[in-house]
Amino acid sequence: MRIGADFATPMVGDDIAAHRTVPGMAHIAGTGPAGQRCRTCEAFELERGSSRAGRCGTFHAMGGRLPKSTSGLISSDTPACKHWRART
Ligand code: SF4
Repeated sequence: MRIGADFATPMVGDDIAAHRTVPGMAHIAGTGPAGQRCRTCEAFELERGSSRAGRCGTFHAMGGRLPKSTSGLISSDTPACKHWRART
């Protein structure tokens, strides 16, 4: 018998998305429009070489602060949060 495996609750759908939330996001991953990702959000910095590349502008605009040990980098494939806005 494998210890613990039989008692684990499998994650599905929204649970998996929520567990992809990382420090530096404006809100919980997966709370945005279905199918959207941070890379399609206006607040996600795409410009290479920028000090904000791969980071969320909304998080910083809201005054979010991170511990020095945390980079604030967000995978572009992260499910969008409720602050998602379409790129214009
Ligand atoms: S969806 Fe947009 S506002 Fe939300 S964390 Fe990603 S980049 Fe930031």
